[in-house]
Amino acid sequence: MLVYIHVPFCRSRCRYCAFFSNPLGRGVDPVSSPLVRDYVDTLFMELAYWGDCFGGSEVQSVFFGGGTPSLLPPRIIGLILERLAKFFSLIPKAEVTLEANPESLRGGHRAAQYLDAGINRLSIGIQTLDETLLHTLGRPHKAMDSLHAAFLAREAGFANIGVDLMWGLPGQSVRQWLQTLKDVIRMSPDHISAYGLTLEPGTPLEKDVEKGRLTLPPERDQNIMFMEGASLLEQHGYLQYEISNYARMGFQCHHNMGYWEGMDYLGLGPSATSTINNRRWTSPANQAAWNTRIREGSLGREVEELGPETRVLEMIMLRLRTTRGLRIKAYHEMTGRDFMRDHKRLVQALHENGLIRIRNGYMRLTRSGMLVSNSILTNLFARTGEVFKQAMLSGGIKPQPGEMLTTSSSLKDSLLADEQSIQRVRWPSV
Ligand code: SF4
Repeated sequence: MLVYIHVPFCRSRCRYCAFFSNPLGRGVDPVSSPLVRDYVDTLFMELAYWGDCFGGSEVQSVFFGGGTPSLLPPRIIGLILERLAKFFSLIPKAEVTLEANPESLRGGHRAAQYLDAGINRLSIGIQTLDETLLHTLGRPHKAMDSLHAAFLAREAGFANIGVDLMWGLPGQSVRQWLQTLKDVIRMSPDHISAYGLTLEPGTPLEKDVEKGRLTLPPERDQNIMFMEGASLLEQHGYLQYEISNYARMGFQCHHNMGYWEGMDYLGLGPSATSTINNRRWTSPANQAAWNTRIREGSLGREVEELGPETRVLEMIMLRLRTTRGLRIKAYHEMTGRDFMRDHKRLVQALHENGLIRIRNGYMRLTRSGMLVSNSILTNLFARTGEVFKQAMLSGGIKPQPGEMLTTSSSLKDSLLADEQSIQRVRWPSV
């Protein structure tokens, strides 16, 4: 099992962000904030609650995400990990990641203290090293803070450091993006996530772009940013293992790989999602409501049962994000059907256009395929939906209780109609 802990606090709200978090304000000490104290108390209760349900389960990785988990002092992080180990069986050498904003690692020995508290992987939210773009994004740090944070983390003894970057930012040029990558490569992180900007509805950044106050780079430039960025990273030993993720050999993020491979995960904290034994639930994206649910013992009551069609679609979507790809036999194991026969025409068209490769029983997207992954998935989903509908009608696949026969949208004639539309993916903090 994977464990995700959502820490819903930030210093201030970034202008592009749609995650659930409460801005604490600059200068507020998180330790003295009643909101933070309430969160920690409630989190301990939640750990005990799930400990009663799944106690003793083996935990392969823990991920503190947010929000800005590095606002929590190392002492508190250590206590949370102690409680977790009391209820669950944390495997030896489990990956324990903390997302950190650069400015929150400024003070003295903080990185070393996180290491002592049990964190063995830091994921630093750099986003860009360009001061103007940092301002546009509303990030609370300066480029120098990022360089400093990575240096301090390494000095403290962290052997596994990841950085998060964004491309396709308003006003960003291809040259600027590639320069950022070169500067980041010089910092020698072990892992680099590079996400294309997603304009989240209702965010200030989206409004600025909508009103014409800011302009995104043209599609063509965004395609080049993705393709040339990937090549540059690979030339420097960062292997792409997922659409937006690159790592030195042996430094892939185990936690995220677990999601993409369909492992069970338990999410703690407000707004966190869990999926265990094909049942999925999400906690309220509101600290008070989450607190009430825990006190009432009603957390996880609103459960979605994942039927066979949902499970197959998710498997296709998640596996195709990775460069390893979809194990074709896994489709047969889940459905009793032959993937190649069910998707013959589509697979042929994708192959002829260089968008997929099939080798050693795996089907994977090529880099050009990743550029249009949304379109490819839409078509695969539509076809899989049709197959399921026919199979259910003929009794070959039994619907789950309460599951409807889905009506798939028709297959689009041209797979490549939106070839220019770059895929912007940000794996959600579940
Ligand atoms: S992007 Fe991260 S730091 Fe910024 S508001 Fe969102 S969760 Fe907080």
